[in-house]
Amino acid sequence: MHFSIPLLLLSLAYTLLIAILFFTKRKQKNIENKIYAILLVTTLIGIVLDIAGIYAHMYLSESSILRWMIVKFYLLFLLVFVFSISIYITSLVKKMDQFYTNLSQILEKPVMKVFLGSFLLCVFLNFILPFHYYRNGQEIYVYGANCIFIYGIGFIHILYWLLMILLKGKYLSRKKMLPIICFVLLGIPGVLIQLQNPTLLLVTTIIAFIVIFMYHTIENPDLEMIEQLHIAKEQAERANHAKSDFLSNMSHEIRTPLNAIVGFSQALLEEDLPTSAQEEVKDILMSSNNLLEIVNGILDISKIEANKLEIINTEYDSFGLMKDIQSLIRARMQDKPLEFHTSIDASMPPVLYGDYLRIKQILVNLLTNAVKYTKEGSIYFKVDAVVKGDLCRLIISVEDTGIGIKKENLAHLFEKFERFEEEKNITMEGTGLGLAITKSLVDLMHGKIVVQSEYGKGSRFTVAIDQRVVPKSVKELQSDSFEEEESVSFKQGQSILLVDDNPINLKVAKRLLQDYPLSVECVESGQECIDKILEGNHYDLIFLDDMMPRMTGKQTLNNLKNIIGFQTPVIALTANAIVGMKESYLQAGFQDYLAKPIERKELEHVLKKYLKIGTSQEEPIPIDTEPKTSKSVTYLEECGIQVQKGIELLGDLDTYLETMEAFLEETPKRLQELEEYKKTNDFQNYTILVHAIKSDAKYLGALSLADLAFKQEMAGKENRLEDLQKGDSIFLQEFQKIITIIKKFLEK
Ligand code: ADP
Repeated sequence: MHFSIPLLLLSLAYTLLIAILFFTKRKQKNIENKIYAILLVTTLIGIVLDIAGIYAHMYLSESSILRWMIVKFYLLFLLVFVFSISIYITSLVKKMDQFYTNLSQILEKPVMKVFLGSFLLCVFLNFILPFHYYRNGQEIYVYGANCIFIYGIGFIHILYWLLMILLKGKYLSRKKMLPIICFVLLGIPGVLIQLQNPTLLLVTTIIAFIVIFMYHTIENPDLEMIEQLHIAKEQAERANHAKSDFLSNMSHEIRTPLNAIVGFSQALLEEDLPTSAQEEVKDILMSSNNLLEIVNGILDISKIEANKLEIINTEYDSFGLMKDIQSLIRARMQDKPLEFHTSIDASMPPVLYGDYLRIKQILVNLLTNAVKYTKEGSIYFKVDAVVKGDLCRLIISVEDTGIGIKKENLAHLFEKFERFEEEKNITMEGTGLGLAITKSLVDLMHGKIVVQSEYGKGSRFTVAIDQRVVPKSVKELQSDSFEEEESVSFKQGQSILLVDDNPINLKVAKRLLQDYPLSVECVESGQECIDKILEGNHYDLIFLDDMMPRMTGKQTLNNLKNIIGFQTPVIALTANAIVGMKESYLQAGFQDYLAKPIERKELEHVLKKYLKIGTSQEEPIPIDTEPKTSKSVTYLEECGIQVQKGIELLGDLDTYLETMEAFLEETPKRLQELEEYKKTNDFQNYTILVHAIKSDAKYLGALSLADLAFKQEMAGKENRLEDLQKGDSIFLQEFQKIITIIKKFLEK
């Protein structure tokens, strides 16, 4: 056996192994892999040709065509190899591998065309140039013009690689550089040694070694793992989405009852109540507002996470804002033994342009924390203003002598749901969202927030935010808007239409509107609203709920817009205060948006914006007080209906009974519609309808039905159609049961 054979067989075995590994593994479709595949295949062919060549030299005559062909193809293999490596290196330094996945795209580049042209020329020359055989016992090789030409070409390419390393090496990663350096380091002496000692037959082994080495430098991430990661990411995103949906649904659920609590409490406060009752109503209002703050905090975080929180800039009264904040914080301090020191820079421009509501939120968050986490001592609120051109940098610091924050906790301070030393602060209310929201808001305003704290001694939060200076006085600002006007009177005879399928919501809104000299009409569906307009009624403003059965607020608005001459401003009135909702309502064509629970201030703002202001004030229009009747409800209670709950929600028995009759009246239509929606797979309307049934059931105290309807609604909203279909029959059974009970009761 020729002495080169063992080395070549070893190279063949290794290269084959690498080829099996390479071709069986799933890989990325990139240039690098494609060129490497060519290199692997050509190397395998090259090794086989080299082995075949040795045996051909030993056993075939010099005139054998097969022997001639083996030599020519072996030399061709060397050509293919060096050209492939050159193309590989060029594509790397020119970063083509990052932008192209198709080899033909690369070959269209001018530099590659030169390579291709010269390659074809070399192939041609390879086949016409002559060579000679040499054989002396074990010493065999070929020589002559053909061999010199191929070695020469190889040498030129190796020089090209060297040049690339020297000129462009710094742009390549070390991993990519290694095989190229290896080519050069082994290639140059390899070619020289081969030329000096043609009998050694080293070239193929060197090539095989480099190709094996190169395998480990190709970046082939584990595609399966990537896929799994991808699936995990998708699952996480879906879960996050479900969480957002859940939050928005919960916000809707919480806001609806809060609407009644806040609305009626506000109205009660305006009544002539005994002092103790007034205090209690104030407490109710404060607690409701706290609850609302928590809901809003959760909504803010979900908005921030969805990148949907927007900064809305307006002109504002800077000193007024600071004053508001101070009085809010003073109220929060209640009777805590705290001193509140404030220092507001008198050189602060009186009118600034920025998102004052969000600035207020930031400062109230920081000051509330200072109050919360300081048992006794002082709180310092300092505002400095540095004006440069039309920009004013507000540098605001909030300092306390409270419990302070441990060094190791400072790094996590602005992360959401982070609360420290909970065991110590067990009585402190909080969600751990305040600072996360604060930091995100400051970032959104391109500001900075820093914290210094000494554990046990106190903390100082400093915020720097740039605001635009508006060259106006506060008076000029106020005359531009109605915002700050103390009281306002509307022109006589203006009317408002309230549209909401929920009678409680109608009652709340009506009660709030009662304080203005406006006539208010209520209807309970989109269709009724359209009918009112078609009948020729004129309204100056319409408040339209969105989530209504049969016809949503958005659909109603679309229909209204089709009525010729309809120009009444329509305000979306909804508890759906989720991410991007306001934008979606404005986009849908609503003039404005009012979230439930309705804030008197916001309601007034909308009224001022869309109604004509007059000079004389009319007497408030009293709302009808319903007559009271009595009827025994024991039967209902025996059947599991919690009448008392319903009466609590609806106010009195009469309203309860009216609602019950209306519910029964609606039922045949609803049952029919439910069937229809199921048949036509119209799950959107199905969801809206079960939502309405849920609300009604709640008001009637039919809590088991409300519960089942809620489950169906959730399944519909989250597109869990299987659950929806599964739950439908139990829901219908309960629905029928309640209908029968109500029918029997009303017949009595
Ligand atoms: P929350 O106050 O609702 O828990 P925050 O995000 O506002 O949530 O604050 C996160 C945590 O940072 C708090 O739970 C508290 O441990 C700590 N912290 C915030 N402000 C202060 C402060 N002024 N002094 C001491 N600790 C504070």
